Amino acid sequence: MATRLKGTDVVVIGLGAAGGVAALPLARAGLEVIGLEAGTWLTRRDFAPDELRNNYRGWPQGVQKANQEIPTARANASSAPMPRGTIHPMQNAVGGTSLHYWAQSWRLNPWDFKVVSETRRRYGASRIPAGSTVEDWPFALDELEPYYDKVEYEIGVSGQAGNVGGTIDPRGNKFEGPRTRAYPMPPLRGTEFLDKMAVAARSLGWHPFPGPAAVNSRPYQNRSACMYHGFCNRGGCHVDAKNSTAVTTIPRAQATGHLKVVTRAHVTTIDVDNGGRVSGVNYVTDGVEYFQPAKAVLLASFTYENTRLLLLSKSKAFPNGLSNNHKQVGRHYFSHHQGAPVTALFPFDLKSWYGLPAQGVAVDNWADDNFDHAGLDFIGGGNLWVMSDRRPIAAATMNTFGRPRWGSQWKAFVRENADRSHSSYIQKTTLPYEDNYLDLDPEVKDPLGYPVCRVTAEFKENERKIAAFTQDKMEQWYREAGAVAINRAPVGGAMGISTHAYGGTRMGDNPDTSVVDRFGFSHEAPNLGVLGASVMGTSGAHNPTLTVQALAWRTAEHLVRNWKKIAT
Ligand SMILES: Cc1cc2nc3c(=O)[nH]c(=O)nc-3n(C[C@H](O)[C@H](O)[C@H](O)COP(=O)(O)OP(=O)(O)OC[C@H]3O[C@@H](n4cnc5c(N)ncnc54)[C@H](O)[C@@H]3O)c2cc1C
Ligand code: SF4
Repeated sequence: MATRLKGTDVVVIGLGAAGGVAALPLARAGLEVIGLEAGTWLTRRDFAPDELRNNYRGWPQGVQKANQEIPTARANASSAPMPRGTIHPMQNAVGGTSLHYWAQSWRLNPWDFKVVSETRRRYGASRIPAGSTVEDWPFALDELEPYYDKVEYEIGVSGQAGNVGGTIDPRGNKFEGPRTRAYPMPPLRGTEFLDKMAVAARSLGWHPFPGPAAVNSRPYQNRSACMYHGFCNRGGCHVDAKNSTAVTTIPRAQATGHLKVVTRAHVTTIDVDNGGRVSGVNYVTDGVEYFQPAKAVLLASFTYENTRLLLLSKSKAFPNGLSNNHKQVGRHYFSHHQGAPVTALFPFDLKSWYGLPAQGVAVDNWADDNFDHAGLDFIGGGNLWVMSDRRPIAAATMNTFGRPRWGSQWKAFVRENADRSHSSYIQKTTLPYEDNYLDLDPEVKDPLGYPVCRVTAEFKENERKIAAFTQDKMEQWYREAGAVAINRAPVGGAMGISTHAYGGTRMGDNPDTSVVDRFGFSHEAPNLGVLGASVMGTSGAHNPTLTVQALAWRTAEHLVRNWKKIAT
């Protein structure tokens, strides 16, 4: 029998990138907030610059709840399950995955909010790929812009603006939508190689620019500037220069006196009353069960767990899972197509032993609808990203461009070329499709006996065509910069599990095609909000977290403004 605790105004489930941001406007408004977080506090001392530990043994992600509930995955309903991983990429800790993420902090571009209407307008309805369930967002970029702005200043983002109030600045991304003001900090510094790549892009007639990063390029809010020594590719920052919510919004929310952080609280289900309103959440700490009553609940436990917790929370009012009477929970799932990279070999050292993955040069000419697709047979595109990040073990396992991968020839090749190769990171549009979805695995369970999430999803023709197209562009860029050999990885099929996982609780105006409304609140249980990329209906060609955080702030602010209507 669970111990019933004293009620509170709002429970936030998960204090990661999304929940950690939402807590701040709620606490500032004076609402009593309890953050139930499965992990613990980690500090600078936990973030050793250790490639073996961070990137191969899976620390700090290791030994945590997430690893015991890794989703299963298969390409489609008739294919066999893929081999199940042993390390979940996401983090259980205060700050969540914002502790060890790469911190590229992108806004979406205007097209990403209007994929359907803009494609129809420019190319005709037939260009929406068959089987895709893509919808326009219920609002355009301008409605989210004030929240992007708030979050950029609140957590701290370094970057070069490309469009302030409609005035294009060629030093930044000329394709970005209008922004209220510049970034709070200048971009992270370049390197000789990044500068060379920028020159090569310009000579092709493209528009290179430094990417935005939630990393301090100069001291900000009494925290250090980045030292560029690297090793935080899958690790935290030991000088707090990476702007996770654990060092920004969460402590600020605590300082108001209105946020109580409860660590090691593993939420298992969300309860509803007879009228179908959320009444609180059940959680377990060290085998002891608690029920935390709340007037409103914000679910912020990342896409797979958001979906799983809803599907596990069955009741009389919601026999198919919470907020799932329209059978939309788990639908419209997709993940960024981050595969199909291009690797280049240069005849000179790149001097890339220092740096971090958010320090780089981007090209957006081939992203979204920034180029004419009239003569092409796909929609969308990719952001080409060249970063400065090299670590010894990764370098030793470098691509050998057809040479042996063992013995003296291999050793000689690596000795000469360890600092001469580069792998691009191409972030591509993915659309949702009818037969790509999340549900509960019928067989695999976590240690508490709850089914884990199951991913059934594959990249379709549109995504594979984008991948091949952007590989061509990346090869062209590398060759312009002097590459002497190129390797293109295969364009994949099955999605597997992802750090950029979208959908499952899509946002929209129509309860028949979405789970939450335009403010992130359930169509069916009005005092339940959902935060995270699970509410996003499109991915664009840029990493999700800044958008997730802007949406989280907006949902929290909506709750504050409509407190009486939503929560009482
Ligand atoms: C190596 C890596 C690099 C990345 N790089 C980038 C990047 O450069 N740019 C970018 O935009 N994105 C990046 N991402 C993705 C980014 O981390 C996510 O988009 C972001 O963290 C999602 O925010 P979230 O709050 O939904 O999830 P998280 O940040 O993972 O937070 C979820 C929180 O919920 C808690 N939780 C989960 N289940 C429960 C439960 N049942 N009970 C209680 N608490 C629970 C977790 O412990 C966690 O603290 C990267 C991810 C990884 C792994
Ligand atoms: S490279 Fe910068 S962000 Fe990464 S650990 Fe060092 S100081 Fe922190």
